[in-house]
Amino acid sequence: METVTVSDQKSKHVFDLMAEYGHEQLVQCYDKATGLKAIISIHSTVLGPSMGGTRMWNYANDEDAIVDALRLSRGMTYKSAIAGLNVGGGKAVLIGNTKTMKNEAYLRRFGKFIDSLHGKYVTACDVNITPYDLEYIYMETNFVTGLPETSGGSGSSSLITAYGTYMGIKAAAKKAYGSDHLKGKKVAVQGAGSVGMKLTEYLVKEGADVFITDIDEEKLKRASKELGAHVVGEPDIYDAPVDIYAPCALGATLNDDTISRLKCDIVAGAANNQLQDDQKHGDILMEKGILYAPDFLVNAGGIMAVAAEYFGEYKKEYLYQKAEKIYDICLHVLERAEAEKQNTQKIAMRMAEERITAMGNLRKTL
Ligand code: NAD
Repeated sequence: METVTVSDQKSKHVFDLMAEYGHEQLVQCYDKATGLKAIISIHSTVLGPSMGGTRMWNYANDEDAIVDALRLSRGMTYKSAIAGLNVGGGKAVLIGNTKTMKNEAYLRRFGKFIDSLHGKYVTACDVNITPYDLEYIYMETNFVTGLPETSGGSGSSSLITAYGTYMGIKAAAKKAYGSDHLKGKKVAVQGAGSVGMKLTEYLVKEGADVFITDIDEEKLKRASKELGAHVVGEPDIYDAPVDIYAPCALGATLNDDTISRLKCDIVAGAANNQLQDDQKHGDILMEKGILYAPDFLVNAGGIMAVAAEYFGEYKKEYLYQKAEKIYDICLHVLERAEAEKQNTQKIAMRMAEERITAMGNLRKTL
Protein backbone atom coordinates (compact mmCIF):
# COMPACT_ATOMS: atom_id res chain seq x y z
CA MET A 1 0.00 0.00 0.00
CA GLU A 2 2.51 2.60 -1.11
CA THR A 3 1.68 6.20 -0.60
CA VAL A 4 2.28 7.28 -4.13
CA THR A 5 1.45 10.67 -5.45
CA VAL A 6 -0.88 10.69 -8.38
CA SER A 7 1.67 12.43 -10.58
CA ASP A 8 4.24 9.68 -9.92
CA GLN A 9 1.94 7.08 -11.28
CA LYS A 10 -0.22 8.60 -13.97
CA SER A 11 2.48 8.38 -16.58
CA LYS A 12 2.19 4.61 -16.33
CA HIS A 13 -0.35 2.75 -18.45
CA VAL A 14 -3.39 1.56 -16.57
CA PHE A 15 -2.72 -2.12 -17.25
CA ASP A 16 0.87 -1.71 -16.07
CA LEU A 17 -0.40 -0.20 -12.84
CA MET A 18 -3.00 -2.96 -12.44
CA ALA A 19 -0.27 -5.55 -12.97
CA GLU A 20 2.07 -3.84 -10.52
CA TYR A 21 -0.59 -3.52 -7.83
CA GLY A 22 -2.25 -6.90 -8.61
CA HIS A 23 -5.75 -5.65 -9.43
CA GLU A 24 -8.52 -7.87 -10.71
CA GLN A 25 -10.85 -5.44 -12.45
CA LEU A 26 -11.38 -1.77 -13.25
CA VAL A 27 -14.81 -0.59 -14.33
CA GLN A 28 -15.58 2.76 -15.95
CA CYS A 29 -19.22 3.86 -15.80
CA TYR A 30 -20.76 6.76 -17.71
CA ASP A 31 -24.27 8.16 -17.88
CA LYS A 32 -25.07 11.05 -20.16
CA ALA A 33 -28.37 11.99 -18.54
CA THR A 34 -26.96 12.58 -15.05
CA GLY A 35 -23.35 13.33 -16.02
CA LEU A 36 -22.15 10.41 -13.92
CA LYS A 37 -18.54 9.43 -14.41
CA ALA A 38 -17.61 6.64 -12.04
CA ILE A 39 -14.64 4.36 -11.67
CA ILE A 40 -14.97 1.17 -9.67
CA SER A 41 -11.72 -0.50 -8.82
CA ILE A 42 -11.74 -4.10 -7.62
CA HIS A 43 -8.36 -4.98 -6.24
CA SER A 44 -9.00 -8.37 -4.69
CA THR A 45 -11.90 -10.73 -4.04
CA VAL A 46 -9.78 -13.55 -2.61
CA LEU A 47 -11.07 -13.07 0.95
CA GLY A 48 -14.61 -12.07 -0.03
CA PRO A 49 -16.48 -9.33 -1.91
CA SER A 50 -14.35 -6.27 -2.56
CA MET A 51 -15.46 -3.58 -0.11
CA GLY A 52 -14.58 0.08 0.21
CA GLY A 53 -16.18 3.49 0.16
CA THR A 54 -17.12 5.73 -2.72
CA ARG A 55 -15.25 9.03 -2.90
CA MET A 56 -16.55 12.00 -4.88
CA TRP A 57 -13.91 14.49 -5.97
CA ASN A 58 -13.42 17.06 -8.69
CA TYR A 59 -10.32 15.38 -10.09
CA ALA A 60 -8.17 17.45 -12.42
CA ASN A 61 -8.36 14.67 -15.01
CA ASP A 62 -9.54 11.09 -15.49
CA GLU A 63 -6.04 9.62 -14.99
CA ASP A 64 -5.83 11.09 -11.49
CA ALA A 65 -9.18 9.51 -10.65
CA ILE A 66 -8.12 6.11 -11.99
CA VAL A 67 -4.83 6.14 -10.08
CA ASP A 68 -6.63 7.19 -6.90
CA ALA A 69 -9.17 4.37 -7.29
CA LEU A 70 -6.44 1.80 -7.95
CA ARG A 71 -4.34 2.94 -5.02
CA LEU A 72 -7.21 3.22 -2.55
CA SER A 73 -8.75 -0.13 -3.46
CA ARG A 74 -5.42 -1.87 -2.91
CA GLY A 75 -5.18 -0.20 0.49
CA MET A 76 -8.60 -1.64 1.37
CA THR A 77 -7.40 -5.17 0.59
CA TYR A 78 -4.55 -4.82 3.08
CA LYS A 79 -6.72 -3.17 5.72
CA SER A 80 -9.41 -5.87 5.68
CA ALA A 81 -6.92 -8.69 5.41
CA ILE A 82 -4.90 -7.68 8.45
CA ALA A 83 -8.05 -6.93 10.41
CA GLY A 84 -9.09 -10.56 9.90
CA LEU A 85 -12.19 -9.72 7.84
CA ASN A 86 -13.62 -11.90 5.13
CA VAL A 87 -13.78 -9.11 2.59
CA GLY A 88 -11.54 -8.04 -0.22
CA GLY A 89 -10.49 -4.59 -1.35
CA GLY A 90 -12.41 -2.23 -3.60
CA LYS A 91 -13.07 1.46 -3.99
CA ALA A 92 -15.14 3.70 -6.24
CA VAL A 93 -14.51 7.28 -7.25
CA LEU A 94 -17.02 9.67 -8.75
CA ILE A 95 -15.54 12.42 -10.88
CA GLY A 96 -17.30 15.76 -10.46
CA ASN A 97 -18.42 18.65 -8.36
CA THR A 98 -20.36 17.43 -5.33
CA LYS A 99 -22.35 20.65 -4.98
CA THR A 100 -23.64 20.79 -8.55
CA MET A 101 -23.80 17.15 -9.64
CA LYS A 102 -24.78 14.96 -6.71
CA ASN A 103 -28.52 14.32 -6.66
CA GLU A 104 -30.97 11.43 -6.41
CA ALA A 105 -30.86 10.41 -10.08
CA TYR A 106 -27.07 10.61 -10.16
CA LEU A 107 -26.64 8.44 -7.08
CA ARG A 108 -29.30 5.92 -8.12
CA ARG A 109 -27.70 5.59 -11.54
CA PHE A 110 -24.44 4.83 -9.77
CA GLY A 111 -26.31 2.25 -7.67
CA LYS A 112 -27.44 0.51 -10.87
CA PHE A 113 -23.86 0.24 -12.03
CA ILE A 114 -22.82 -1.28 -8.71
CA ASP A 115 -25.70 -3.74 -8.97
CA SER A 116 -24.52 -4.85 -12.40
CA LEU A 117 -21.37 -6.24 -10.73
CA HIS A 118 -23.53 -8.76 -8.81
CA GLY A 119 -21.80 -8.26 -5.45
CA LYS A 120 -18.17 -8.26 -6.53
CA TYR A 121 -18.03 -4.72 -5.14
CA VAL A 122 -19.82 -3.44 -2.04
CA THR A 123 -19.80 0.30 -1.46
CA ALA A 124 -19.79 2.51 1.65
CA CYS A 125 -19.11 6.17 2.54
CA ASP A 126 -15.94 8.08 1.85
CA VAL A 127 -15.01 11.70 1.16
CA ASN A 128 -18.12 13.66 0.05
CA ILE A 129 -20.41 10.62 0.17
CA THR A 130 -22.54 10.49 3.30
CA PRO A 131 -24.67 7.72 4.81
CA TYR A 132 -27.68 9.65 3.46
CA ASP A 133 -26.27 9.52 -0.08
CA LEU A 134 -25.94 5.78 0.37
CA GLU A 135 -29.68 5.54 0.94
CA TYR A 136 -30.24 6.57 -2.69
CA ILE A 137 -27.65 4.08 -3.93
CA TYR A 138 -29.36 1.43 -1.79
CA MET A 139 -32.62 2.02 -3.65
CA GLU A 140 -30.98 0.39 -6.67
CA THR A 141 -28.68 -2.20 -5.15
CA ASN A 142 -28.21 -4.24 -1.97
CA PHE A 143 -24.44 -4.06 -2.30
CA VAL A 144 -24.21 -1.11 0.07
CA THR A 145 -23.13 -0.84 3.70
CA GLY A 146 -22.62 1.95 6.23
CA LEU A 147 -26.22 3.14 5.98
CA PRO A 148 -27.62 5.59 8.57
CA GLU A 149 -28.74 4.12 11.88
CA THR A 150 -32.24 5.37 11.08
CA SER A 151 -32.23 2.95 8.13
CA GLY A 152 -30.97 0.04 10.21
CA GLY A 153 -27.33 0.62 9.33
CA SER A 154 -24.24 1.10 11.48
CA GLY A 155 -24.13 4.88 10.91
CA SER A 156 -20.98 6.89 11.26
CA SER A 157 -17.91 4.72 11.64
CA SER A 158 -15.77 7.43 13.23
CA LEU A 159 -16.55 6.38 16.83
CA ILE A 160 -15.44 2.81 16.34
CA THR A 161 -12.44 4.02 14.32
CA ALA A 162 -11.45 6.21 17.27
CA TYR A 163 -11.76 3.25 19.63
CA GLY A 164 -9.60 1.07 17.37
CA THR A 165 -7.04 3.87 17.14
CA TYR A 166 -6.99 4.11 20.91
CA MET A 167 -6.30 0.35 21.04
CA GLY A 168 -3.47 0.78 18.53
CA ILE A 169 -1.92 3.54 20.64
CA LYS A 170 -2.12 1.40 23.76
CA ALA A 171 -0.49 -1.56 21.99
CA ALA A 172 2.35 0.68 20.82
CA ALA A 173 2.75 2.04 24.37
CA LYS A 174 2.94 -1.53 25.68
CA LYS A 175 5.74 -2.27 23.23
CA ALA A 176 7.63 0.97 23.78
CA TYR A 177 7.20 1.42 27.53
CA GLY A 178 6.34 -2.06 28.79
CA SER A 179 2.94 -0.81 29.97
CA ASP A 180 -0.10 0.32 28.04
CA HIS A 181 -1.14 2.82 30.66
CA LEU A 182 -1.32 6.27 29.14
CA LYS A 183 -1.71 8.25 32.35
CA GLY A 184 0.73 11.16 32.25
CA LYS A 185 1.75 10.50 28.65
CA LYS A 186 1.83 13.52 26.34
CA VAL A 187 -0.05 12.88 23.12
CA ALA A 188 -0.22 15.19 20.07
CA VAL A 189 -3.44 14.75 18.13
CA GLN A 190 -3.45 16.27 14.64
CA GLY A 191 -7.05 16.90 13.60
CA ALA A 192 -9.97 17.64 15.90
CA GLY A 193 -12.46 15.99 13.54
CA SER A 194 -14.86 13.13 14.26
CA VAL A 195 -12.10 10.62 15.01
CA GLY A 196 -9.63 13.04 16.62
CA MET A 197 -12.18 14.37 19.11
CA LYS A 198 -13.40 10.96 20.23
CA LEU A 199 -9.83 9.71 20.49
CA THR A 200 -8.94 12.75 22.61
CA GLU A 201 -11.86 11.90 24.88
CA TYR A 202 -10.50 8.36 25.44
CA LEU A 203 -6.98 9.67 26.05
CA VAL A 204 -8.02 12.41 28.46
CA LYS A 205 -10.24 9.98 30.34
CA GLU A 206 -7.20 7.78 30.91
CA GLY A 207 -5.16 10.69 32.22
CA ALA A 208 -3.07 11.52 29.16
CA ASP A 209 -2.11 15.09 28.43
CA VAL A 210 -3.42 15.89 24.94
CA PHE A 211 -2.03 18.59 22.64
CA ILE A 212 -4.37 19.14 19.73
CA THR A 213 -4.27 21.06 16.47
CA ASP A 214 -6.66 21.74 13.59
CA ILE A 215 -7.19 24.35 10.91
CA ASP A 216 -10.66 24.95 12.28
CA GLU A 217 -10.60 27.31 15.30
CA GLU A 218 -14.10 26.35 16.41
CA LYS A 219 -13.17 22.69 16.74
CA LEU A 220 -10.10 23.63 18.76
CA LYS A 221 -12.17 25.72 21.11
CA ARG A 222 -14.43 22.74 21.70
CA ALA A 223 -11.49 20.38 22.27
CA SER A 224 -10.07 22.76 24.82
CA LYS A 225 -13.32 23.65 26.57
CA GLU A 226 -15.03 20.26 26.58
CA LEU A 227 -12.04 17.93 26.86
CA GLY A 228 -9.32 20.04 28.44
CA ALA A 229 -6.89 19.49 25.55
CA HIS A 230 -4.06 22.00 25.01
CA VAL A 231 -4.27 23.81 21.69
CA VAL A 232 -1.18 23.82 19.46
CA GLY A 233 -0.61 25.80 16.27
CA GLU A 234 -1.09 23.80 13.09
CA PRO A 235 2.54 23.87 11.90
CA ASP A 236 3.93 23.35 15.44
CA ILE A 237 2.46 19.92 16.01
CA TYR A 238 5.53 18.16 14.58
CA ASP A 239 7.86 19.94 17.03
CA ALA A 240 5.74 19.32 20.11
CA PRO A 241 7.74 17.59 22.88
CA VAL A 242 5.36 14.66 23.26
CA ASP A 243 5.58 10.91 23.78
CA ILE A 244 3.05 9.98 21.12
CA TYR A 245 2.01 11.63 17.85
CA ALA A 246 -1.45 10.66 16.56
CA PRO A 247 -2.10 11.88 13.00
CA CYS A 248 -5.88 12.12 12.56
CA ALA A 249 -6.24 14.60 9.74
CA LEU A 250 -4.25 14.19 6.56
CA GLY A 251 -2.17 11.64 4.66
CA ALA A 252 1.58 11.85 4.00
CA THR A 253 2.40 13.77 7.19
CA LEU A 254 5.38 11.46 7.76
CA ASN A 255 7.82 12.71 5.17
CA ASP A 256 11.33 14.12 4.66
CA ASP A 257 10.35 17.46 6.19
CA THR A 258 8.48 16.30 9.26
CA ILE A 259 10.17 13.14 10.56
CA SER A 260 13.36 14.97 11.53
CA ARG A 261 11.26 17.32 13.67
CA LEU A 262 9.44 14.62 15.63
CA LYS A 263 10.43 14.17 19.26
CA CYS A 264 8.02 11.37 20.08
CA ASP A 265 8.62 7.66 20.76
CA ILE A 266 5.47 6.49 18.99
CA VAL A 267 3.41 7.44 15.94
CA ALA A 268 -0.08 5.93 15.97
CA GLY A 269 -3.14 7.60 14.51
CA ALA A 270 -6.20 7.23 12.31
CA ALA A 271 -5.24 9.13 9.15
CA ASN A 272 -4.88 7.05 6.00
CA ASN A 273 -1.55 6.80 4.17
CA GLN A 274 0.51 8.59 6.81
CA LEU A 275 3.85 7.55 5.34
CA GLN A 276 4.59 9.53 2.20
CA ASP A 277 6.70 6.60 1.05
CA ASP A 278 6.08 3.28 2.82
CA GLN A 279 9.53 1.89 2.47
CA LYS A 280 11.67 5.01 2.78
CA HIS A 281 9.81 6.75 5.58
CA GLY A 282 9.01 3.50 7.37
CA ASP A 283 12.75 2.82 7.44
CA ILE A 284 13.64 6.36 8.57
CA LEU A 285 11.22 6.12 11.50
CA MET A 286 12.73 2.78 12.47
CA GLU A 287 16.28 4.17 12.28
CA LYS A 288 15.21 7.11 14.43
CA GLY A 289 13.85 4.72 17.02
CA ILE A 290 10.25 5.88 16.58
CA LEU A 291 7.73 3.08 16.83
CA TYR A 292 5.21 3.35 14.02
CA ALA A 293 1.85 1.59 14.39
CA PRO A 294 0.71 0.94 10.79
CA ASP A 295 -2.19 3.23 9.91
CA PHE A 296 -4.21 0.74 7.89
CA LEU A 297 -4.36 -1.55 10.91
CA VAL A 298 -4.88 1.11 13.56
CA ASN A 299 -7.80 2.68 11.67
CA ALA A 300 -9.52 -0.59 10.70
CA GLY A 301 -12.44 -0.03 13.11
CA GLY A 302 -14.48 1.61 10.35
CA ILE A 303 -14.23 -1.30 7.93
CA MET A 304 -14.99 -3.69 10.80
CA ALA A 305 -18.25 -1.83 11.38
CA VAL A 306 -19.41 -1.74 7.77
CA ALA A 307 -18.38 -5.35 7.14
CA ALA A 308 -20.37 -6.45 10.20
CA GLU A 309 -23.38 -4.48 8.94
CA TYR A 310 -23.11 -6.06 5.50
CA PHE A 311 -22.99 -9.60 6.88
CA GLY A 312 -25.89 -8.93 9.27
CA GLU A 313 -23.64 -9.24 12.34
CA TYR A 314 -23.74 -5.65 13.52
CA LYS A 315 -24.08 -5.33 17.29
CA LYS A 316 -22.38 -2.47 19.06
CA GLU A 317 -20.90 -4.51 21.95
CA TYR A 318 -19.67 -7.21 19.61
CA LEU A 319 -18.07 -4.59 17.40
CA TYR A 320 -16.17 -2.93 20.24
CA GLN A 321 -14.86 -6.38 21.21
CA LYS A 322 -13.75 -6.86 17.64
CA ALA A 323 -12.04 -3.46 17.50
CA GLU A 324 -10.24 -4.37 20.72
CA LYS A 325 -8.43 -7.05 18.71
CA ILE A 326 -6.54 -4.24 16.98
CA TYR A 327 -4.48 -4.15 20.20
CA ASP A 328 -3.31 -7.77 19.85
CA ILE A 329 -2.74 -7.62 16.10
CA CYS A 330 -0.79 -4.39 16.47
CA LEU A 331 1.39 -5.77 19.24
CA HIS A 332 2.08 -8.84 17.12
CA VAL A 333 3.11 -6.65 14.16
CA LEU A 334 5.42 -4.56 16.33
CA GLU A 335 7.05 -7.61 17.91
CA ARG A 336 7.51 -9.38 14.60
CA ALA A 337 9.00 -6.23 13.06
CA GLU A 338 11.51 -6.07 15.89
CA ALA A 339 12.40 -9.77 15.56
CA GLU A 340 12.82 -9.49 11.78
CA LYS A 341 14.52 -6.07 11.95
CA GLN A 342 12.09 -4.67 9.37
CA ASN A 343 9.92 -1.59 9.42
CA THR A 344 6.50 -2.12 10.93
CA GLN A 345 4.53 -1.08 7.82
CA LYS A 346 6.37 -3.65 5.74
CA ILE A 347 5.66 -6.39 8.28
CA ALA A 348 1.97 -5.46 8.51
CA MET A 349 1.71 -5.61 4.72
CA ARG A 350 3.47 -8.97 4.69
CA MET A 351 1.09 -10.33 7.32
CA ALA A 352 -1.88 -9.19 5.24
CA GLU A 353 -0.41 -10.84 2.14
CA GLU A 354 0.27 -14.06 4.04
CA ARG A 355 -3.36 -14.23 5.15
CA ILE A 356 -4.61 -13.61 1.61
CA THR A 357 -2.36 -16.35 0.23
CA ALA A 358 -3.29 -18.83 2.96
CA MET A 359 -7.02 -18.22 2.61
CA GLY A 360 -6.72 -18.31 -1.18
CA ASN A 361 -5.11 -21.75 -0.91
CA LEU A 362 -7.83 -22.87 1.47
CA ARG A 363 -10.48 -22.00 -1.08
CA LYS A 364 -8.91 -24.32 -3.62
CA THR A 365 -10.00 -27.37 -1.62
CA LEU A 366 -13.36 -28.54 -0.29
P1 NAD B 1 -12.89 14.70 9.73
O1 NAD B 1 -13.02 15.35 8.39
O2 NAD B 1 -14.03 14.66 10.65
O3 NAD B 1 -11.66 15.37 10.51
C1 NAD B 1 -10.46 15.76 9.93
C2 NAD B 1 -10.02 17.01 10.65
O4 NAD B 1 -8.71 17.35 10.20
C3 NAD B 1 -10.91 18.20 10.38
O5 NAD B 1 -11.32 18.77 11.61
C4 NAD B 1 -10.01 19.16 9.60
O6 NAD B 1 -10.29 20.53 9.85
C5 NAD B 1 -8.65 18.78 10.13
N1 NAD B 1 -7.52 19.20 9.30
C6 NAD B 1 -7.47 19.32 7.95
N2 NAD B 1 -6.26 19.78 7.58
C7 NAD B 1 -5.52 19.90 8.71
C8 NAD B 1 -4.20 20.31 9.00
N3 NAD B 1 -3.37 20.67 8.03
N4 NAD B 1 -3.78 20.30 10.28
C9 NAD B 1 -4.61 19.94 11.29
N5 NAD B 1 -5.88 19.55 11.08
C10 NAD B 1 -6.33 19.54 9.82
O7 NAD B 1 -12.34 13.21 9.40
P2 NAD B 1 -12.36 11.97 10.38
O8 NAD B 1 -13.51 11.12 10.05
O9 NAD B 1 -12.13 12.43 11.77
O10 NAD B 1 -11.06 11.17 9.87
C11 NAD B 1 -9.77 11.58 10.25
C12 NAD B 1 -8.74 10.80 9.47
O11 NAD B 1 -8.91 9.40 9.71
C13 NAD B 1 -8.84 10.97 7.97
O12 NAD B 1 -7.55 10.92 7.42
C14 NAD B 1 -9.61 9.76 7.54
O13 NAD B 1 -9.33 9.39 6.21
C15 NAD B 1 -9.10 8.70 8.49
N6 NAD B 1 -10.02 7.60 8.70
C16 NAD B 1 -11.27 7.86 9.18
C17 NAD B 1 -12.15 6.79 9.36
C18 NAD B 1 -13.54 7.02 9.89
O14 NAD B 1 -14.21 6.04 10.19
N7 NAD B 1 -13.98 8.25 10.03
C19 NAD B 1 -11.74 5.48 9.06
C20 NAD B 1 -10.45 5.26 8.61
C21 NAD B 1 -9.60 6.34 8.42
